[in-house]
Amino acid sequence: MNKQTVRDVNWKGQRALVRVDFNVPMKDGRITDDTRMRAALPTLLYLLDKGAAVILMSHLGRPKGQRTEKYSLEPVAGHLRSLLPGVQIRFASDCVGEEAEQAARNLGPGEVLVLENVRFHPEEEKNDPAFAQALARLGHVYVNDAFGAAHRAHASTEGVARYLPAVAGLLMEREIDVMGGALERPERPFVAIIGGAKVSDKIGVLENLLPKVDALVIGGGMANTFLAAQGHDMGRSLVETDALDIARGLLQKAAERGARLLLPVDLVVADRFEADASHRVCPATEVPADGMALDIGPETVGAYQAVIRDARTVIWNGPMGVFEMPAFARGTIAIAQAMAEVHGVTIVGGGDSVAAVEQAGLADRMTHVSTGGGASLEFLEGKTLPGVAALREKEES
Ligand code: ADP
Ligand code: MG
Repeated sequence: MNKQTVRDVNWKGQRALVRVDFNVPMKDGRITDDTRMRAALPTLLYLLDKGAAVILMSHLGRPKGQRTEKYSLEPVAGHLRSLLPGVQIRFASDCVGEEAEQAARNLGPGEVLVLENVRFHPEEEKNDPAFAQALARLGHVYVNDAFGAAHRAHASTEGVARYLPAVAGLLMEREIDVMGGALERPERPFVAIIGGAKVSDKIGVLENLLPKVDALVIGGGMANTFLAAQGHDMGRSLVETDALDIARGLLQKAAERGARLLLPVDLVVADRFEADASHRVCPATEVPADGMALDIGPETVGAYQAVIRDARTVIWNGPMGVFEMPAFARGTIAIAQAMAEVHGVTIVGGGDSVAAVEQAGLADRMTHVSTGGGASLEFLEGKTLPGVAALREKEES
């Protein structure tokens, strides 16, 4: 990565203003999954070890610019105490203003201050300069470790970087190095597996990856649109009629460059969109008029697994079927299993794909499971993320 990181700063006596992604799922005031918090620990431990005072800012949920109790970060600060035993962790009930500034000034080296939800202020999402400046007053150096929010140009992810020296945290660095490395210098064969509901959600990803990969493997609802674009009747399956031309264009591009674009040869077809629907396997070209394709079939699974097995770099975004229903989760789980066996780099990005890999208990068998849903999608589209662009380049000082 060509950006400066926490390793490029002398932290003695400095206050680090750190944007983390503590947007964790909560139920009844309790955190149900702390993956994102644990993902930030390497950066926090590094800073504390180097003698910095650490001030944390994050968003939680969508409070729409209003103070909303159920989106308070106070329980998150409480949970952080259990993740960092022995570390003094304070909480400020607002992210800007006198109380926060005083708490920041009084913070000692090796101590942590968690600020209240930045989205309690409408200025956050508007990237308001005065608000960004008010945040900047709290620290000496800005650290962005919130990869999951880096695709947003908000005050705490982008604006604040105009007023302080700005460097990447270790999670941000890893996300960019692993995904960027795979996109720029993949060990080959390089295989991308793209699924999920819609072609239209993933056009940018498909177009960016097609020229880079040795094989593009398509599954999920979007495969139906590709099959329909080839002229097959998909019955009552999810087909995006608006995206048929895009699908045709991608098929043609693949044919021109001799890239392998793999589509399902068989599908699991149900009579309705329900977990207990009756279902059977049929050829992808013979979906019955009243049927709905909800997963890839066993022959397709075998073919896709064979392609993955030979790969040295695999990027996966988007489930192969309606994996939320066990009857239609087989294809998705089989892909995760094949990836777990790969001798090479394996990367999973996208909210639902990551959930599927975790559900299958295979997350720790991957090289990298991205913490950013929307951000990883934009990264795979080849877009520059505003939160990353705002950080200092390596050669600057
Ligand atoms: P990600 O979050 O990993 O980027 P998406 O959000 O693009 O993935 O797609 C996930 C959704 O696609 C899931 O809710 C899944 O049920 C749905 N899906 C997958 N296959 C099908 C299908 N054949 N028909 C309808 N929906 C599907
Ligand atoms: Mg999704």
